[in-house]
Amino acid sequence: MSTGDGESGGTGRSPRASRPGMPDRPLGRERHAPRGSTVAQGQPVVAVVGYPNVGKSTLFNRLTGRREAVVDAKPGATRDRRQGGAEWNGVAFQVLDTGGIDDADESTMAKDISAQAVRAIEDADLILFVVDAAVGATPGDLEVAERLRRSHRPVIVVANKCDNDEAEMRAQDLWGLGLGEVATVSALHGRNIGDFLDLLVESLPEVAPPDDSIARLPAFCIMGRPNVGKSSILNALLGEERMIVQDIPGTTRDPVDTIIEWDGREIVLIDTAGLRRRGRMRERVEVYSQQRALESAARSDVAIVVADATEGITEADLGACDQAAQNHCATLLVLNKWDLAQPDLTDLAGRVRRKSRQHPPIVACSAVTGEGIDRIIPQAMALYEKSCTRLSTHALNEALRELAAERPGPRKGKRRLSMRFLVQTGVAPPVFRLEVNDRSLMTRDYGFWLENRLRDRFDLAGVPVDIEVRSRR
Ligand code: GDP
Repeated sequence: MSTGDGESGGTGRSPRASRPGMPDRPLGRERHAPRGSTVAQGQPVVAVVGYPNVGKSTLFNRLTGRREAVVDAKPGATRDRRQGGAEWNGVAFQVLDTGGIDDADESTMAKDISAQAVRAIEDADLILFVVDAAVGATPGDLEVAERLRRSHRPVIVVANKCDNDEAEMRAQDLWGLGLGEVATVSALHGRNIGDFLDLLVESLPEVAPPDDSIARLPAFCIMGRPNVGKSSILNALLGEERMIVQDIPGTTRDPVDTIIEWDGREIVLIDTAGLRRRGRMRERVEVYSQQRALESAARSDVAIVVADATEGITEADLGACDQAAQNHCATLLVLNKWDLAQPDLTDLAGRVRRKSRQHPPIVACSAVTGEGIDRIIPQAMALYEKSCTRLSTHALNEALRELAAERPGPRKGKRRLSMRFLVQTGVAPPVFRLEVNDRSLMTRDYGFWLENRLRDRFDLAGVPVDIEVRSRR
């Protein structure tokens, strides 16, 4: 097939592929379903492209189950870009019918259609390049194939009008287009459509499913060394507990998570039980605090890591930030006890940037005077919002091209890593899939560099950027 499995050999919905230097996501985090995306309701987009009259509209109708569109035998009868939902074996996707590509034709319509097709190439997660098997590859098809190869998008060549075995056999020549898998179908008669849909669904990138049913609340946890002021900050945030909406019981009689309301929005503070206890009870809990903090991070979207301004930002504080990052949390560093010491924030930010993976933003505050406390939740919320953004495939691939030009992929012997395609496959935290020629050429160093450059470019400081690398034949 023309898309991504490479050596992983599974379907597009298999567990996560490799991310340089990152352990797999702990199961605890799955308490929350991922948030729905803003693009096509989180569904992958499949674009149908090809010359006029090869059967794109019939295929579109076959995929989306539409019957009403009249398919004219005249070339170019389908001019408009149409979009429709489709589903196979429980996997939903969006189909874009683009009109067609006809660079050879100078007429306005052909240009118009051509522009639409180019846009579809930019927007699509998978391209179906439809060719008339009865005619074979025309010179125009070869040009389109060249354009598709350059786009580095996953492509399936759909040899349409394969109404019989003989046409199917002739269609095998289309492997010569060099685009990968050739599916032989008859869109009109439905021949081989099941096999084709199996292939299509396998070739789709993983996209986070929409999540309309679960009222998903942003989840934050508070981490940090003993005595930095975690519990004081929590108490300052909770005030006289006016904001507490609900305590969610854990396995013991104590509350574990707490839902609070902030600025009209509900937020879950994960595992606040330990922090809300006082005195001897608190000490007993503190024994387990390290383990507990990690479990909390695993269930949170944002980790609020507290440090003590009188000590600056220590190695242990940076370690806590990295632990949060490893648990796929966005991270906010809170420098507490600002009433006692005011170290230079610019210096500290520089150190954090050099020494931590995610470059978390810093908020200074004092749990005693209350200064800066009101900025903590809005800043954490801003990080959460960022980790929910979905970047367009177009913007990602533009960035990828520029980054590859700035620093070519690492080389092993005569072979060099070549990056083909980058697509976002998940939100909160953002997960990306990078297709390369051979993922064994990827180095840890280059992976980190890429991650940091994407973080800078898309304003994702403090947010995890998880990149799955896959080989593409
Ligand atoms: P935790 O172990 O991180 O939860 O820390 P605590 O909240 O128990 O605080 C540890 C000590 O630091 C307590 O004596 C607090 O009163 C004190 N403390 C916490 N925040 C501040 C602050 O902003 N300013 C000052 N001066 N003391 C603080």
